[in-house]
Amino acid sequence: MTEFVFPPAATPSIAVTGSKARFPVRRVWCVGRNYLAHIRELGNDEREPPFFFSKQPDMVVSGGPIPYPALTQDFHHEVELVVALKSGGSHISPDKALQTVFGYAVGIDLTRRDQQNAMKAQKKPWEISKSFEQSGPCGALTEASKAGDIAKAAISLSVNGAERQNSSLAHMIWSVPEIISHLSQMVDVGAGDVIFTGTPEGVGAVVCGDRLDATIAGLEPLSITIA
Ligand code: MN
Repeated sequence: MTEFVFPPAATPSIAVTGSKARFPVRRVWCVGRNYLAHIRELGNDEREPPFFFSKQPDMVVSGGPIPYPALTQDFHHEVELVVALKSGGSHISPDKALQTVFGYAVGIDLTRRDQQNAMKAQKKPWEISKSFEQSGPCGALTEASKAGDIAKAAISLSVNGAERQNSSLAHMIWSVPEIISHLSQMVDVGAGDVIFTGTPEGVGAVVCGDRLDATIAGLEPLSITIA
């Protein structure tokens, strides 16, 4: 057994519906610009291939109150389908990609939009806008075999009961198999990897005290409050 100079941090994990065992998180990837209407609302290039950024594994949390973060006055919600992998590899073809999927969940890619815009304007990495404490709330995973065909499932997010985002996973530009295949050209994907697959239109700011309810038909809903 490896000896460490101090005890390593606990493995970040996600609940699994109907199981006491939790899903151990290895890496967290996020897809940028995967819905045309969201690309248009932020004024970005509509013809880009998919691209990825990351959050750190311990930034994935199961919900609960999330503190309004420092360094932003424009804290945005992005409801997204989260895909969790049970296996992986490199250069996975789209027709084999679904074999790597453990399950699906509803997630929110919390974003410091003002920081993202500032970093984009300066041609700097936008890490600070995406990667911070509790920036990746994620509901319980539903195993793929129990989730059914989610390719056309409805996806929505409301703030204090008022609908902000409402779309369909059918509007994703890059499908789940294509996303996994693409990512596996860039890096070795593996068991424990989690992918936030991009958000539809309707992103917007939240403030302290707001309650966010996120849903994808067929999956466990996710609710958070901003503390
Ligand atoms: Mn996102």
